[in-house]
Amino acid sequence: MKKAIYAGSFDPITLGHLDIIERAARMFDTLVVAVLENPNKCSLFTVEERKEHLELVLCNMKNVEVASFRGLLADFSKEIGATVAIRGLRNTMDFAVEYQMYLINRKLGKDMETVFLAADEEHLSLSSTNVKEVAVFGGNIDFMVPQEIKPFIIEKYKK
Ligand code: ADP
Repeated sequence: MKKAIYAGSFDPITLGHLDIIERAARMFDTLVVAVLENPNKCSLFTVEERKEHLELVLCNMKNVEVASFRGLLADFSKEIGATVAIRGLRNTMDFAVEYQMYLINRKLGKDMETVFLAADEEHLSLSSTNVKEVAVFGGNIDFMVPQEIKPFIIEKYKK
């Protein structure tokens, strides 16, 4: 049984994240999509809300589980028995950051491997930050996020 983990802020989940999830789920027996609780990051949605969004979007994917964690990816992966970390790469900036994380994770978790999936060309410019920058001014986010979570984003900015 090969278990992989795809961790991120998912604040909110984008179509770029979803594409990585769908592709990784086809490669492993189980994929755990984990919301990283980062107290240093100011987020739009709470961890519970982000988990609910992921559960809603991923409910038909039988081998995908949703979780959240605090602390190190290496520690949480060990705790749940995941041996592969999935990361998405959009550009050379992602590569520079992700490669450093890979080196650190390899030191922290000796049995951990990282698999990098290149972003689909349609999603190269998508990030959670971009979604928020467009949504705050009421712009069209149809091409950025799964339809199911669009109302939650719109609602958040009404308040
Ligand atoms: P962070 O943890 O920095 O907030 P995210 O939650 O946005 O990052 O992303 C988690 C992972 O998904 C990272 O590996 C990131 O490179 C990747 N990713 C983010 N956006 C996309 C996208 N549009 N296409 C493919 N991969 C992406």
